[in-house]
Amino acid sequence: MKKKTQHYDLIIIGGGMVGASLACALGNQPLRIGVVEAVPFCADSQPSYDDRSIALAYGARKIFEGMGLWQQVKKIATPIKKIHISDRGHFGTTRMDAAHEGYPALGYVVENRDLGELFATQLASFSNIELICPAQLKNVTINADNAEVVIERDGEIETLTSKLIVGADGGRSAVRQLAGISHTSDDYHQNAVIANITPGKDHQNIAYERFTDSGPLALLPMSNRRCSLVWTVNRDKVDEVMAWNDETFLARLQERFGMRLGSLQKAGQRNAYPLALVRANQHIRARLALIGNAAHVLHPIAGQGFNLGIRDVAALAQVIVEAQHNDIGVLSVLKQYDQWRQHDQDCVTGLTDGLVRIFSNQITPLVMARNSGLLAMDIIPPVKRALMRQTMGLAGKLPRLARGIPLQ
Ligand SMILES: Cc1cc2nc3c(=O)[nH]c(=O)nc-3n(C[C@H](O)[C@H](O)[C@H](O)COP(=O)(O)OP(=O)(O)OC[C@H]3O[C@@H](n4cnc5c(N)ncnc54)[C@H](O)[C@@H]3O)c2cc1C
Repeated sequence: MKKKTQHYDLIIIGGGMVGASLACALGNQPLRIGVVEAVPFCADSQPSYDDRSIALAYGARKIFEGMGLWQQVKKIATPIKKIHISDRGHFGTTRMDAAHEGYPALGYVVENRDLGELFATQLASFSNIELICPAQLKNVTINADNAEVVIERDGEIETLTSKLIVGADGGRSAVRQLAGISHTSDDYHQNAVIANITPGKDHQNIAYERFTDSGPLALLPMSNRRCSLVWTVNRDKVDEVMAWNDETFLARLQERFGMRLGSLQKAGQRNAYPLALVRANQHIRARLALIGNAAHVLHPIAGQGFNLGIRDVAALAQVIVEAQHNDIGVLSVLKQYDQWRQHDQDCVTGLTDGLVRIFSNQITPLVMARNSGLLAMDIIPPVKRALMRQTMGLAGKLPRLARGIPLQ
C-alpha cells in the first residue's frame, strides 16, 4: 500500500555536517522540518562523520554560539592558539597568535565523529524536526507552489512535499543532479592523506601548515596530545604512501615536517580523499537551494570547506526565518540568500584554489614571490589581519548567527 504523502515546510536532503547544522539552527522555529539522511549518524560508513578532524574557524564558533550550541561543541574542541606557516627549504614564514590579535583562539579542532554524535542528540531534542534516516533520495519535482521529494525508506517508496528543499547532500549531490543543475569539477590530481599523529613534544595548541615540494601538510592540535595530520600528496604517489608501514610513514613525515614537534612517535589509521574543486553553476532555483559541499567542494589546504558551509547555513537560516510567515520557497526570498553569499564564496574559493596552485609549483620566481608574500604577511600587520578576518569568517556583512546572536 502506498504511504500517505507527508507535508513539511522545509526538507533538508543530507544530515551531514552542513545539513545537520541548518536543521539545528532552525530547531524550535514554527516550521515543520524533515531531514532526509542516507546513513545513520553513528555508522562506521557515515561519510560526513568519519575519521577526519576539522578546524573550525573562530567565525564558526560565533555561529554555534548564536545557535546556542557552543557550550556543547566547546567540550569536544581543542583551541588553536597560534598558527605557524612555513615553506620547507625556503625563508618564508608567517606566524599568527590569538593573544596578539585579541581573540581567545584562532580556531578549534573537532573530530567529525564527535560532531556527528552531538548533532544526532541535538536534532532528537527538537519537536519541529523529523529525522528520516536511513532513507535515500529518489526524485525531486519542482511545482509552482511546492516541491515534491520521493524517497526510499525501509524498502518502501514515500512522497514528501515542502515549500523549500535544501540540498545539503555533499559533493556528489543527487539534489543538484535531479534538479538538472550543472557543475564544474577541476581535479587537483592530489589526495589528502589523514591520520592522527602523536608527537614527542606537546603541541601547545599550535597549528602547523607546512608547504613542501611534495605537497602541503597540516598538523593541527587535538585532544590527548595528538595532532591531526592532513598531508596532500600527488595522486600517483598515494598508493605508495598508503602502503608504507607506520615506521616508514612516520619517518617520511618527519623528514617533510622537521623537528618542531620533536620526534613523531605514533600514527593512527590512515585514510585518503581525492581532491577536486567542484562548483555548482547555480545555487538556487524556485523552491530549491544548495548549501555546503553540494554547492562548493574545496581543497582542504586552508581548512575552509565546512567553515564556508556553516556560513551558508547562517545566512539561509536568517532569510528563512524572516520569510517564515509568508512563502520561504519563492525565488525572491532565495535570491536574498544567494546574493548575500556570493562574495564570501567567491573569495574563499579563489583564495583556496590560488594557494593550491601557488604552493604546488616549484618554478623559482614563483617560489621567491610566495616566500616574500609569507614574510610580508608576517611583518605587515594590516595584511595579516585582512587575511585572518577572511579565513576566520569575520569579513563582510555577517548574519545574526555569525555575530553570535540568536536568529530571533
Ligand atoms: C581531508 C579533509 C579535511 C578537511 N578539513 C577541513 C577543515 O579543517 N575545516 C573545514 O572547514 N573543512 C574541512 N574539510 C571540508 C569538510 O569536510 C566539508 O566541507 C564538509 O564535510 C561538508 O559537509 P556537507 O554536509 O556539505 O557534505 P558531506 O559531509 O558530504 O555530507 C553529505 C551528507 O549527505 C548524505 N547524502 C548524500 N547523498 C544522499 C542522498 N541521496 N540521500 C540522502 N542523504 C544523502 C550523506 O550521507 C552525508 O551525510 C575537509 C575535507 C577533507 C576531505
